[in-house]
This record gives sequence, C-alpha cells and structure tokens, in this order.
Amino acid sequence: MRLLLVTCALLLLGTTAGSCQDTTELFIDTVPVLHVAPPLLAEQAWAYDLACSGLHPTVRFEDINWWVADLIAHSKRHNLEGYWGLPDSSSIVIDLRSVNNPSVLAHEILHYMRQEGGHPDDPFKKCGV
Ligand SMILES: [Zn+2]
Repeated sequence: MRLLLVTCALLLLGTTAGSCQDTTELFIDTVPVLHVAPPLLAEQAWAYDLACSGLHPTVRFEDINWWVADLIAHSKRHNLEGYWGLPDSSSIVIDLRSVNNPSVLAHEILHYMRQEGGHPDDPFKKCGV
C-alpha cells in the first residue's frame, strides 16, 4: 500500500518540535507502508499519556491503525520518526527504526488522543514527548 504524504502536511500545521513535520519538510509524495499490530510498547505509552496529560480522550486505543514505514528514507528530515493522521485520524505511522521507542509512540498517541496536530506545551512538554 502507498500512502499520500502530501496530505499529512495539512494535518500537522504548527509543528515546532517532536517527530512530526510541516509541508516544507516533505520530500516525496508517497511512502510505502505496512499495516501492523500495535507495537509492543504502545499500550504502555497510551497509559503513560493518560497519566501525564490528564486527557480524557473520546477515542480508544483499540481503534488505532498502526503503520510502519521507512519515513527517514522518504523524507527530507533525517529524524522523522512518526506521524499521526494518515490515511485517517485513527492512523499512526512509525518509522521502522522507532517501533520500540516509547517516546515516539507516546508522542504520536498524544496527537491521536487530541485528534489535533500542533505541539502545545500541555500536553507535549508536560509529558516530555
Ligand atoms: Zn507531533
């Protein structure tokens, strides 16, 4: 399956840090992705986010669609580790090198919980992801 990365930019405006990106950093228009089971540490990352953020998400962990891709090879940024929002708001894509990185998982899960791009200090800085 191929995923349009161009659309991602529309969902991630206002990015200043973390593992997401903005339009100017997109390099290609498509990335091959693999639909996968939740990463081993994803449920722990979800619990961590709930505890540190105080959020009460209306979305459920079980409804996340997990994808893995070689994001680093397919973007201008050498450190793109993940993003949320494509192909839909239930999807999280993780770079294949970061599948076991709890910070990356927690960061993208926060986007999913909030259903928003951008990185306000609360909850991102508050949670340290
Ligand atoms: Zn982000």
